[in-house]
Amino acid sequence: MATNLPAQTKVKRILIANRGEIAVRVIRTCREMGIETVAVYSTADKDNLHVKMADKAICIGPAPSAQSYLKMESILMAAMHTQSDAIHPGVGFLSENAAFARLVRDNGLIFIGPDPEVIELLGDKVQARETALKYGLPVTPGTGAVIANEGAIEEAKKLGFPVIIKAAAGGGGKGMRIVRKAEDLEENITLASREAQANFADGTVFIEKYLENPRHVELQVLADGNGNVAILGERDCTVQKNHQKLIEESPSPGVTDKMREAMAAGAIPMFASLKYKGAGTIEFLAEEEKFYFMEVNARVQVEHPVSEFVSGIDIIRQQILACTTGSMEIDPVQINLKGSSIECRINAFTPGTITRLEIPGGIGVRFDSFLYNGCTIPPHYDSMVAKLIVYDTDRKKALAKMDRALRELVIEGIKTNIERQKFIINHPVFHNGVFGTSWYADIEKEIENGR
Ligand code: ADP
Repeated sequence: MATNLPAQTKVKRILIANRGEIAVRVIRTCREMGIETVAVYSTADKDNLHVKMADKAICIGPAPSAQSYLKMESILMAAMHTQSDAIHPGVGFLSENAAFARLVRDNGLIFIGPDPEVIELLGDKVQARETALKYGLPVTPGTGAVIANEGAIEEAKKLGFPVIIKAAAGGGGKGMRIVRKAEDLEENITLASREAQANFADGTVFIEKYLENPRHVELQVLADGNGNVAILGERDCTVQKNHQKLIEESPSPGVTDKMREAMAAGAIPMFASLKYKGAGTIEFLAEEEKFYFMEVNARVQVEHPVSEFVSGIDIIRQQILACTTGSMEIDPVQINLKGSSIECRINAFTPGTITRLEIPGGIGVRFDSFLYNGCTIPPHYDSMVAKLIVYDTDRKKALAKMDRALRELVIEGIKTNIERQKFIINHPVFHNGVFGTSWYADIEKEIENGR
């Protein structure tokens, strides 16, 4: 059933359990919705932009994330103390932590995200693969959980080398190992499992066939928690360095209407039956017309603005409405996607103080960031300091716009990847749109030589 009635939330105050650009992003939408915001911050972030922008701000601990942004009890206390009605987890940190979502719910607050049971199911990649299979989605050929010396070699041989060992609880491109020969498998399973245990407190690993140069394609999902599921088209995140995304765009130059429809045909009933709530992403690897389910990220993603540009929908607004009212302002069957949008992640190679900042502007240009003149980038957190996003009526124009916006962007005082992004955006292969996830590694030498 369509839910195009104007949804209204009674929520008055939201605490944002995050920092940096995503905290700023959430504050902006809250303000437009008339919702007050509470920022939390570590001592290293006392002058961070999100602290200045929020209606209230509470220090939750020292610089290391484990003692601040990952400290569930401190964040909950801050929310209770400020009489917040809900907590928005942003991306990273506690955003896919089922225990945190449960703690928030058990204390009578609203978690802006799916239910903890759903986060748990989707957060385990082995279980998520099984769930996707149930809805007829092709998954990357692979195994269930494996143990080093118990038939894993046989299973990997069946898949055919190379294979990739992945952590069931993995994320952020961490803990993956590519294995090209049977004799290297056992040792790598042991190492991967140890790494997984150390990073994600769960040593479960599984094996997938390693696709040599696929595209990374994902669907943006918005769901109201009552079975209404909207797909805001796909994003292409094929430009990656060490499995981490650098540039994203929508639509994908490698996805046909047929593929898009087939992906959505599996994703919609899957998210509907899970009673999925809020924003989520279903990720696939694609080789030509073939695509394989990889995982679900049960939260908003860094690259969501490209989907906002092509759909005209504020994803954070609909996410908040879905999670606080059970309905959204959009009609899933009437999502109109138009034009082409590209995002460049701007990463800092060094911490430091911004001595000069010039932000690009003009029609179809968006700059999501926590930078301001004179601000300090602490060394403790993610290296991404900004996202530059452009929109135009077609990909060719969007590329020209990104080039001119990157030329306008000036960030001094720290070293950034702006020059690299210019190089990629202007590369003939990127213009053609025919490339895979290993393309960036191929051109890195050219980039370093400044050619
Ligand atoms: P994470 O959750 O850590 O981000 P993902 O499972 O989303 O990990 O994978 C991240 C990236 O790793 C993918 O976009 C892709 O480049 C690479 N990758 C993952 N699985 C495979 C595979 N089976 N074959 C080839 N590349 C893969």
